[in-house]
Amino acid sequence: MQALTKRSKQVDRRPMTAMEKMYLPSIIKGMGITFSHLFKKKPTINYPEQQRPFSAVFRGVQILNRDEEGRERCTACGLCAVACPAEAITMEAAERQPGEENLYREEKYAAKYEINMLRCIFCGFCEEACPKDAIYLTQTFTPANYGREGFIYKKEDLLIPNPVTQPEEYAKAKGTIGKDIK
Ligand code: SF4
Ligand code: SF4
Repeated sequence: MQALTKRSKQVDRRPMTAMEKMYLPSIIKGMGITFSHLFKKKPTINYPEQQRPFSAVFRGVQILNRDEEGRERCTACGLCAVACPAEAITMEAAERQPGEENLYREEKYAAKYEINMLRCIFCGFCEEACPKDAIYLTQTFTPANYGREGFIYKKEDLLIPNPVTQPEEYAKAKGTIGKDIK
């Protein structure tokens, strides 16, 4: 029967020679390939001690931003939730009370803010939609977890440290964003 392609190979059914029965040439050839890899640059790295730099356009876990006085920028307007194609964002708005001006930048703030990381596809639409520069995607990824609850990130998990009271932690968290933020 005529083959449809030219990829078929004739099987060699000749009896093996004495040398071939010892498998020595094949073993030596195989060891040669193994040893040649010893002198090549390793494609693996010792994670987590060593980490590869992320691409400049990498989009990871979100961070909720504060202003230079440490006040929360988010006004719970809901635009990020509307823009989110995965419906991963939920929030509850609250009114700022007298005396809370040092906590919240605007008269309305997010009393609750949650992102379901199991739904998030890290598209960055929430960051694009936010009119208050309140949410940014960082260059860190979601750590592994044993339960689904651990992937529901609450406001406390997402808020960037306060630049006034925790300047070192704030600078470190800001560094994970990988771009200038307001
Ligand atoms: S990155 Fe995309 S999917 Fe994730 S919360 Fe933002 S808008 Fe939703
Ligand atoms: S993060 Fe931005 S878009 Fe989302 S609710 Fe807060 S202010 Fe609005």
